[in-house]
Amino acid sequence: MIFKQRQGKKLRKGNSPPSTTVLVSACLLGEKCRYNGKGYTLPDLVESLSGYSVVPACPEVLGGLPVPRPPCELRGGDGELVWADQASVYTKEGRDFTTAFRAGASKTLELAQKNGVKMAILKDHSPSCGCNRIYDGTFSRRLVAGRGVTAALLKKHGIEVIAETDWAAQRRGNDV
Ligand code: SF4
Repeated sequence: MIFKQRQGKKLRKGNSPPSTTVLVSACLLGEKCRYNGKGYTLPDLVESLSGYSVVPACPEVLGGLPVPRPPCELRGGDGELVWADQASVYTKEGRDFTTAFRAGASKTLELAQKNGVKMAILKDHSPSCGCNRIYDGTFSRRLVAGRGVTAALLKKHGIEVIAETDWAAQRRGNDV
């Protein structure tokens, strides 16, 4: 079953021929890898991936962080500025997790490249996976425009990144 697959292992649905491969934030597929030990239940998303080969990945776990773990936010800018050494990733208590976030992003990029991924469907608002908006670093639930550390790295290497909400909206548009 799709939810039980190990991260990074390519999943192919049914007996379909080789298809487009997409990387997906593992938590969106139900994997309990979020900072709070939970995952999401999104049957519509799983259904929409029928016919695609799916590579699930949780960059923060790939970066060596445990589940559960302290929530983190970016300070000084978004993921692009993390890669420019102008922003960092911190816990609310001020612990610097930037190294782990960068390591997880790099491993996710490796996975994507190894599997020929051209598009990633990622969980928006996450300090790793956010595609459109991320939290502003004050831990007050305020969102600002920007990408997470992994989304920025994938994009920098030519991989299209799309928030799960935008993916759903596109699919709805296609159904009309
Ligand atoms: S949003 Fe990304 S980093 Fe956070 S739990 Fe989901 S897959 Fe992991």
